[in-house]
Amino acid sequence: MAVVAMIPVMIPQLGEEEAQAAADAVRSGWVAQGPRVARFEQEFAAAVGATHGVAVSSCTTALHLALVLLDVQPGDEVVVPSLSFIATANAVRYVGATPVFADVDLATGNVTVETIEAVRTPRTRAVIAVHQGGVPFDTAALRKAADGWGVHLVEDAACAAGSTAYGQPAGAGATIAAWSFHPRKLLTTGEGGMVTVDDAAHAARLRRLREHGMNVSAADRHASSQPVLEAYLETAFNYRMTDIQAAVGLVQLGRLAGLVAQRRELAARYQELLADVEGLTPVRDPAYGQTNYQSFWVLLDERHERDEVLAELARQGVSARRGIMAAHLEPAYADVEAGPLPNTERITRESLILPLHHKLTADDQEHIVGVLKGLA
Ligand SMILES: *Cc1c(COP(=O)(O)O)cnc(C)c1O
Repeated sequence: MAVVAMIPVMIPQLGEEEAQAAADAVRSGWVAQGPRVARFEQEFAAAVGATHGVAVSSCTTALHLALVLLDVQPGDEVVVPSLSFIATANAVRYVGATPVFADVDLATGNVTVETIEAVRTPRTRAVIAVHQGGVPFDTAALRKAADGWGVHLVEDAACAAGSTAYGQPAGAGATIAAWSFHPRKLLTTGEGGMVTVDDAAHAARLRRLREHGMNVSAADRHASSQPVLEAYLETAFNYRMTDIQAAVGLVQLGRLAGLVAQRRELAARYQELLADVEGLTPVRDPAYGQTNYQSFWVLLDERHERDEVLAELARQGVSARRGIMAAHLEPAYADVEAGPLPNTERITRESLILPLHHKLTADDQEHIVGVLKGLA
């Protein structure tokens, strides 16, 4: 068989500017959490419409800290979508609480007021809602419902940098949101994450929780001309981001608007090319917002076998991926009694993610859609 160059599903957009910024951080001698992290927090929070940003080592640790901050405890239930990267459910177990899986809407891949209501109990302390693959959930509806139920709403915005809801960035108006800078997302710092909050006291506690429970940050201590004695106020974590990562993140942030615009153009072209292909529904914007198209997924109907489609794409040089995973189908969650999750199971088994990145050409898109057309 001939070796064909594969069209990758995702490529992070990293250039000389990021390399230079990382080198500058190294040369400055300040490589751990320092001034660049502080700047990245401010600029990122501003870009996503949030008041305070607290940088951490990943979105997984961001979710963990969010639940520690909200004092979620063993015996509490936290409603999460099963249809998400597994870190969403894992964070619930880190604090000893019980994840309860809610189903999702078939079009957006997101939990709704109704799917949460179906599994909510008096023990529900919090809900983690995910902007799946960049498609915003209905922020207005969910925030209002959570208020009415008296439960905390944690927004897993790992995929949502650059997505909007009701004309604002998806993070605007969130009480607490968690973000990821893994290379699979739009903005990357290698590994990295952020918690954004609307409350100054919450931000202060999160800064302490990510840094061993210290009442003075190491950065402030080193920057002071006077000796500063720190105290350790509670048992906490080392979930810090480094200044090398933040330096890269600051450059990446400057690319965000352009990246989203380009992805939306490429997605529109896919939608146009796929319009007359039967048995296949591409993801779209919901009525209340816009996705950044971090993941461009298509839902197949019974005419297609997903794994055969993936295999055919691979044979023809296209590296597509299975759709979003479902935690309740993984061995780690085999002991959880999940109620019926029909849309979750349909999406996870019958969807796939097509290549979408800044180097994807019109020819690539035609080739990919050509393969899909040839399946019928
Ligand atoms: C990627 C992802 C995470 C985990 O992010 P990391 O930064 O890799 O820890 C969590 N939730 C969702 C929805 C994700 O897509």
